[in-house]
Amino acid sequence: MTDTTIVAMTEVTKAYGELRALDAVSLTVAAGEWVAIVGPSGSGKTTLMNIVGCLDRPTDGTVLLGGVDVTRCAAAELTQVRREQVGLVFQRFHLIPHLNALENVMVAQYYHSLPDEAEAMAALTKVGLAGRAHHLPSQLSGGEQQRVCIARALINDPALVLADEPTGNLDAANAQAVMRLFRELHEQGTTLMVVTHDPKVAALSEREIVLDHGRIEREEFHVQS
Ligand code: ADP
Ligand code: MG
Repeated sequence: MTDTTIVAMTEVTKAYGELRALDAVSLTVAAGEWVAIVGPSGSGKTTLMNIVGCLDRPTDGTVLLGGVDVTRCAAAELTQVRREQVGLVFQRFHLIPHLNALENVMVAQYYHSLPDEAEAMAALTKVGLAGRAHHLPSQLSGGEQQRVCIARALINDPALVLADEPTGNLDAANAQAVMRLFRELHEQGTTLMVVTHDPKVAALSEREIVLDHGRIEREEFHVQS
């Protein structure tokens, strides 16, 4: 482990009775890396992301996030680490339907600092949605809704962005817009872990981790031009 390690998982197991959703997984992710997590349905991808994102705790093993052992910290500290270090993007958008795009981003600000409209607007501008700030989710396309979610995830400038099937509900054109955004984030130095079923999305990463039955089956490295 070096001082540029963002995520360090050691022998992480998540058991549900007899089933091991994760089975002694060890994985380190360096600052600035873009890692894709792939594998069949049920192989443990979401379990892994939820544990790294501090939404879930492992049965066994340790997870360091930015050097902090999140498997040992108290609930309050865990919430703080999550808010400060991690931005989460899901397949389903989880936007609040009666709030417009700008307000949805500001709700996320509320949880870590003071809501700041100019900052929320800047985040929407970054994802190309300045012109949609006052639209409700129902007035936005799927791709636009997902970009609002990405703006929301970026609002506290997280070191690590975790995305679980971020293009799973999008058509090809919208998926491409989201992937362009991830590429920009990567160029700006954000560390990315992206679960995907889409080989085109996985191919954009530098390192692809293949899970099977809760274990890392293999890793593939991609050279990006
Ligand atoms: P993936 O995201 O790769 O499809 P998951 O991480 O969601 O896989 O699930 C891995 C395995 O763990 C699956 O067999 C799933 O049924 C099981 N699992 C996930 N969450 C729970 C839970 N809360 N209770 C029991 N089993 C679970
Ligand atoms: Mg999943």
